[in-house]
Amino acid sequence: MSIKIKMNNNFEKELKKKAMKIAEDKLRNSGVNLECPHCKETITMKLGINNCPNCKKTIDLKN
Ligand SMILES: [Zn+2]
Repeated sequence: MSIKIKMNNNFEKELKKKAMKIAEDKLRNSGVNLECPHCKETITMKLGINNCPNCKKTIDLKN
């Protein structure tokens, strides 16, 4: 019985790890839609320095 519980915990952990990795990859590769902190326009941002196409301000997106 204890083995079964362990397996379930590991499975959940792996699933969380995988979900986080996908989110991270998405952020790095294709960007995410976020609200610009300056003009509140929804723009696609990638990890790192972004320039808002609406207000032209710089947004530093950190992981
Ligand atoms: Zn903006």
